[in-house]
Amino acid sequence: MESVFSKIIKREIPAHIVYEDEFVIAFLDITQATKGHTLVVPKVQYETIFDMPEALSGKVFEVATKVAKAIQKAFNPEGLNILSNNGAFASQSVFHFHIHLIPRYQGDDLVN
Ligand code: ADP
Repeated sequence: MESVFSKIIKREIPAHIVYEDEFVIAFLDITQATKGHTLVVPKVQYETIFDMPEALSGKVFEVATKVAKAIQKAFNPEGLNILSNNGAFASQSVFHFHIHLIPRYQGDDLVN
């Protein structure tokens, strides 16, 4: 089944896209856990990291690094969490592999 992220990639539903190349896209999470919360997503839909070709997950992490630096420049957070939920048991809700970049700020109410 086509994921909501595939619909974003095909411009069928809107998103705030912050980076895109041939293989990877990054856009703001609709639920901003903190200001600048971004998802980095391979354009081809693989459900989890267990299905991912390693060359592609390498590209996704490369973009995650680039975007993390852009977030740091734009928002100047105190730190940043990188998270990827894989499998329903691990709280994954969109079954199209993705990395969360969650900037952390003094006084934010996220649990460490
Ligand atoms: P969880 O919901 O537990 O964080 P995931 O790790 O699968 O599970 O994360 C899916 C993420 O996708 C959520 O943070 C959710 O807010 C985000 N999301 C869902 N629909 C959209 C959308 N249309 N645009 C941007 N982000 C979305």
